Amino acid sequence: MINLTLLGATGSIGQSTLAVVDLHPEQFQVFAISANTNWQDMIKLCTKYTPKYAVMTDENAATQLSARLQNDTTVLSGAAALEMIAEHAQTDYVMAAIVGSAGMASSLAAAKAGKRIMLANKESLVLAGDIFMQAVKDNNAELIPVDSEHSAIFQCLQGGTSGLSKIQLTASGGPFLHTPLHELSAITPEQACAHPNWSMGRKISVDSATMMNKGLEVIEAHYLFNLPASQIDVVIHPQSIIHSSVYFNDGSTLSQLGNPDMRTVISYALSYPDRIPSGVSALDLTQNSPLEFYAPDFDKFACLRLAFETLKQGGSSMGTMNAANEIAVSSFLNGRIRFVDIAIIIEKTLEQAKHTHPNTLNAVIKNDQDARAIAREIVQTYA
Ligand code: NAD
Ligand code: MG
Repeated sequence: MINLTLLGATGSIGQSTLAVVDLHPEQFQVFAISANTNWQDMIKLCTKYTPKYAVMTDENAATQLSARLQNDTTVLSGAAALEMIAEHAQTDYVMAAIVGSAGMASSLAAAKAGKRIMLANKESLVLAGDIFMQAVKDNNAELIPVDSEHSAIFQCLQGGTSGLSKIQLTASGGPFLHTPLHELSAITPEQACAHPNWSMGRKISVDSATMMNKGLEVIEAHYLFNLPASQIDVVIHPQSIIHSSVYFNDGSTLSQLGNPDMRTVISYALSYPDRIPSGVSALDLTQNSPLEFYAPDFDKFACLRLAFETLKQGGSSMGTMNAANEIAVSSFLNGRIRFVDIAIIIEKTLEQAKHTHPNTLNAVIKNDQDARAIAREIVQTYA
């Protein structure tokens, strides 16, 4: 029996993980789960899975949960408890599915404890890629991507990297692929969160609409596959059937295809190197014709351009961009700024922030906080 810790159990990835786990009760057992504030859903999860630990980051939510639970689950609160359930000796695999930089320390704790980390929290790599990858290496952790593009590349590279010339991330282009630039300023949060192919949390849905999600994924790919920006390419593919491709120097290209459903990605991370049923139906290519491909428009999707620029610049700039993006996205979701202001706020934050080379987690966190403060000040000027 494999014990699982699910960080971010109430989220979109958390729920899909549990859906796969439900198909294989003889193989996987839920050891610990976490959520931020949603104690109502956590009651249901604790009742169904009876984990040893349930962590609510929010203290008040933890009080609510523990007052209502009638089983042996220990309820804890705070960020330190997240690290405890990630590194616990009794857990085998850790699903890192907290959204945003809040997931970084617990992902790192799992790496330091030498766990299998099923990494959905791409922000861990964007903020602290060097530190994180070093921890994985030093502690013999197993890092399996839980992002459709990176899982696709990981699968395509199972035969090795001999002759690898480039990897190519596919991007759906989001809901505004065909919306003219001048119409983007009137976009509402509801329109931005209505993704054509993937059902996801609100933050990553906005990131998909701005294509910052692809930008973060370029950086994620840089660290996961140890490749420079020059060997990482992005192509728009609105149908999201080809999840990504790998190009070799003999003219061969390998792609991984499937219906757009994260349960495939999650089940592969759970069963690797084997495969197990995920609940996702088989792909029917005849129902998905034609498949289209376009080059990305870096003027319209300035966030994608900024991500490539920060990757080339290195150091603190990727973390600064991520922090500014988190502030800008939540300001957009709260109705304080327009959709098109997201990229502008990120660019201004990058101009104003000090460029450093953080090599400790504390330095990364300090840079994240400083960048957030700058971004918040810039947002104020829009109010
Ligand atoms: P979500 O918003 O649906 O869920 C986020 C989870 O994190 C929830 O369980 C929430 O309780 C928890 N959380 C939120 N803020 C927190 C905080 N401050 N401290 C502790 N916990 C907190 O998000 P999601 O769509 O499931 O995405 C999770 C991660 O997976 C993100 O990094 C995202 O980029 C990545 N990802 C998601 C998808 C997808 O299809 N949803 C695909 C690829 C990668
Ligand atoms: Mg993705």
